[in-house]
Amino acid sequence: MDQPQANVVIIVKLCNFHVSFTPFTESHKSIFRSRAKNTLKYISCTINLFLMKENNQIKADSLRESHPHPSKETFCSFCHLLYDRHLVAGVGGNMAALSGENIFLTPSGYSLREVKPDMVVTVNGKGIVIEGANPTKDAAMHLGVLRVRPDVNVVFHVHGAYLVAASVMLEPGPDTLPPLTPGFVYYAHPLSMLPFFVPGTQILAKTVAEKFAERQCRAVLLQNHGLVTVGKDFQEALNVAEEIDEAARIFVLTDGKATVIPSKDLEKIR
Ligand SMILES: [Zn+2]
Repeated sequence: MDQPQANVVIIVKLCNFHVSFTPFTESHKSIFRSRAKNTLKYISCTINLFLMKENNQIKADSLRESHPHPSKETFCSFCHLLYDRHLVAGVGGNMAALSGENIFLTPSGYSLREVKPDMVVTVNGKGIVIEGANPTKDAAMHLGVLRVRPDVNVVFHVHGAYLVAASVMLEPGPDTLPPLTPGFVYYAHPLSMLPFFVPGTQILAKTVAEKFAERQCRAVLLQNHGLVTVGKDFQEALNVAEEIDEAARIFVLTDGKATVIPSKDLEKIR
């Protein structure tokens, strides 16, 4: 009985009509005001999310928790680090990092080992290139993740061989790679995996962004493809990638038969 009453009042308020509620007792009015306030908050949040989606724009305002301004040199140093750590090979893998109101992206068609500051592509909050050549073909995936996660400033996408090997030994789902190391449990367990989608497609970008819309999500494994990790900064995104890569390597080297950390200890590690 209470919920329909609250809904009626909210609709009336949004439409700017004036209605009196004489049948309510003081007790009813108190409950009613509290529910109306909470419902208005919910509607306000929903409208904000809707507008963000409609404007197709990344919010670099009060919704974002920090406004880092990394240099292109720093961005490049982490491109090189991903290559040196064997998390990418050839021209595979890509990166995005928020820089003030804009976003740095890796260029399309180049190995991360050779990316230099003047090759870094800068796009604005709407994804329009304002400096540089063509961004990575996974640009929509990176921008989608940044849109849904105000706490995230850096997105890595890597193709490490052990990550891909583990992905083909496991089934897609919300909890795939077993809890083999404390570092993996701390940073990214449970780790979900998506089935294979063709790289660079809208469906991949959309599905990955939907996964990261869950606030606690720090990484998503992509079957037959690789891994996406996020962080508030470069170090955090790299820590997540390295811990998952290590756990994936152990999983593969032990043919998926290694003893896992007891479930009773998982919460103590997180
Ligand atoms: Zn890829």
